[in-house]
Amino acid sequence: MLTDNFQRQFSYLRLSITELCNFRCLYCLPEGCAKPEQQPLSVDEIRNLVRGFAEMGVSKVRLTGGEPTLRKDLISIIQAVASVPGIEAVALTTNGHKILPLLPFLKAAGLTAINFSVDSLQPNQFEAITGKSSAADVLKAVESALVQNFESVKINVVLLKGLNSEELPAYLELVRNKRLSIRFIELMQTSDNREFFAERHLPADLVGKQILAQGWQQVTPGTRLNMGPATVFSHPEFVGTVGLITPYSQNFCASCNRLRVSARGALRLCLFGEGEYSLRPFLQSAQQLPELQLAVTNLLGAKQQSHRLLEGHYGSTQNLASIGG
Ligand code: SAM
Ligand code: SF4
Repeated sequence: MLTDNFQRQFSYLRLSITELCNFRCLYCLPEGCAKPEQQPLSVDEIRNLVRGFAEMGVSKVRLTGGEPTLRKDLISIIQAVASVPGIEAVALTTNGHKILPLLPFLKAAGLTAINFSVDSLQPNQFEAITGKSSAADVLKAVESALVQNFESVKINVVLLKGLNSEELPAYLELVRNKRLSIRFIELMQTSDNREFFAERHLPADLVGKQILAQGWQQVTPGTRLNMGPATVFSHPEFVGTVGLITPYSQNFCASCNRLRVSARGALRLCLFGEGEYSLRPFLQSAQQLPELQLAVTNLLGAKQQSHRLLEGHYGSTQNLASIGG
């Protein structure tokens, strides 16, 4: 198992498969995405990468972006990842805009889990935040994913003061009768969104206090193997769960179990770290896996104990679309 200097073990790989996106979320790509300078990793490069990581103990891969459904070969990518020995879960994070007709094919290819980003349940507000008028289509896709029995279906909501902060009751209603999880994510500062962050950041603890007052109870203290970093809450009258992702809280990094690789094949040790390390030269054939593994093991030695967000350092990440969140 990949282990760093702080005894954290890494079983979870977040792999961005494109830098392109069809949305313009206010906190991420308000001007839309620029044309990438390099091609993203090919299916063969992705297969080699995942094989290398799986042999080192990674068992869960999340495909993200940019918007992963913009890859025309998404189904082949999922097939390639799901068929690597040792990979038990293949997840996707998506804005859901184009996914509805793809769902049966993604499931057949081996996709086990989907996180949909839905930052407002009100169509007008959804459009104001994302630049697209597709709230109803995305919610239809969420329903369809539940009907098609994906192992896990979640909705990600980035908390935005004054834009969606009044919608907690409506989100909770969504999980009353459905096997659905809502994840409230605290807005994170990047170098591109400083002013927006200053205006709209809302601590996720505020949601925690509200739901505790309504009888929700914490069910996980933090990360378990392959789980996300969310603190999860359940309620006897609700089928689904609520999770809070609070990167600004103390000890958030103590349970870190994930590594990130960009669409260009660069390893990122932390979302808020400096620098990245290209693994692409080691992905050109299966014979290079020992070199890849040696490089990753050595690089892991440089992983810091914690991000420094509370000191105002948010690293070199311009926006989360560049690395997949
Ligand atoms: N395009 C896909 C989507 O939006 O689901 C996948 C990529 S997106 C970068 C992954 C997740 O990161 C989304 O849930 C998005 O809302 C979240 N995200 C992006 N920028 C963020 C920020 N500055 N703070 C918190 N979450 C952010
Ligand atoms: Fe695109 Fe996702 Fe960023 Fe929104 S959050 S702009 S959908 S990459």
